[in-house]
Amino acid sequence: MKSKIDAFMKEIEARNGLEPEFMQAVQEVAETVIPYIISQEIYHGKNILMRMVEPERVVTFRVAWVDDQGEICVNRGYRIQMNSAIGPYKGGLRFHPTVNMSILKFLAFEQVFKNSLTTLPMGGGKGGSDFDPKGKSDNEIMRFCQSFMTELYRHIGPNTDVPAGDIGVGGREIGFLYGMYKRLKNEFTGVLTGKGISWGGSLIRPEATGYGTVYFAESMLKTKGDSMKGKTVLVSGSGNVAQYATEKATQLGAKVVTLSDSSGYIYDADGIDAEKLAYVMELKNVKRGRISEYVKQYPSANFTKGKTPWHEKCDVALPCATQNELLGEDAKALLANGCFVVSEGANMPSDLDAVHAFLDAKILYAPGKASNAGGVATSGLEMSQNSLRMNWTREEVDTKLREIMNNIHDACIKYGQDENGYVDYVKGANIAGFVKVADAMLAQGVV
Ligand code: GLU
Repeated sequence: MKSKIDAFMKEIEARNGLEPEFMQAVQEVAETVIPYIISQEIYHGKNILMRMVEPERVVTFRVAWVDDQGEICVNRGYRIQMNSAIGPYKGGLRFHPTVNMSILKFLAFEQVFKNSLTTLPMGGGKGGSDFDPKGKSDNEIMRFCQSFMTELYRHIGPNTDVPAGDIGVGGREIGFLYGMYKRLKNEFTGVLTGKGISWGGSLIRPEATGYGTVYFAESMLKTKGDSMKGKTVLVSGSGNVAQYATEKATQLGAKVVTLSDSSGYIYDADGIDAEKLAYVMELKNVKRGRISEYVKQYPSANFTKGKTPWHEKCDVALPCATQNELLGEDAKALLANGCFVVSEGANMPSDLDAVHAFLDAKILYAPGKASNAGGVATSGLEMSQNSLRMNWTREEVDTKLREIMNNIHDACIKYGQDENGYVDYVKGANIAGFVKVADAMLAQGVV
């Protein structure tokens, strides 16, 4: 088996060897999906996984814009249209200086499996730019978004490709992008998700990724007759996903003790309750400040510069920051300190060593493509509401989100449970995500 996986990865490396994050995402899928393909005759001789790792289309483009000083700046824009077998391409846009082809291809590849798991008709894509929104004025952000859309608009559409937010792209950016798309096409359609409530957005969309990550942790705990109540939780990140994961974990009776950003993490032994979270939301979303400022407001907390939170003691870890933020040695520290639940809110936050450490320890470990699917699932619900020209209530959307997260959990059990009852959620998510897309691709022929 190992030699089959190695042979496949060698071929992938020949074409994509300079893309380490993409290789990592493919390796993780290959480890579980190749054995499954070998066990299922219908996939033999179809080269199906090789077809899935090759994007259907990749667009890169120049984004020129003028800053507040009148300087002309140039960034690179991307859209990876990975797979449209089960629906229009769907996935976020990331604006961050680290954005490159490898990062976006790994995200687009994971998105294909994630979107398949949601049970909604969405293919997979991802895009963005190496633009750094940090320290930019609202006007600069607007001019950048407008320039970005003057090229992107010809590649997307409500039945073709529906982008949304990701790191560095929130409600403000979606607004500027949508305004320019509408002007260029003279159409009011559901071409982007994460829109404002008064212009086609869905209730619960901002909360969905973080809430879904905690719902998934709760479902995993339920299989052991346990719950989030009374658990000590480490959350990394302090953006949209981290904020709403903290809110939901706290609502379910857990105590969240950490948050972080690229400069370090804060530890609050008393827990980050609703009032403290409201402060963090104002700090990060309105003032666009740094998490270190938390300790000025709440002096009993402390800030550790340049470190991630994984060496603190906890029951549950929710990595909600970014890719490869939790390494093999961090996983070992978590396990040594008694952590027995990891539910990923970010995309691929654990490196392969960490994934293997969690699987070997047989803890409750959910990969992001399962546990953070609530965000894109609610984007799918936003698309449905746009097509129906209707708005569902908060309760309706939240009920559907919970149902979807439960279905994803069931699908992971279906394909990931072994004879002793242990659930490998990585295997379960990869195979369940794969089957739906692969079957659609086989039905549609070699295209
Ligand atoms: N960027 C989010 C993700 O990683 C959301 C994508 C979407 O809503 O289309 O799934």
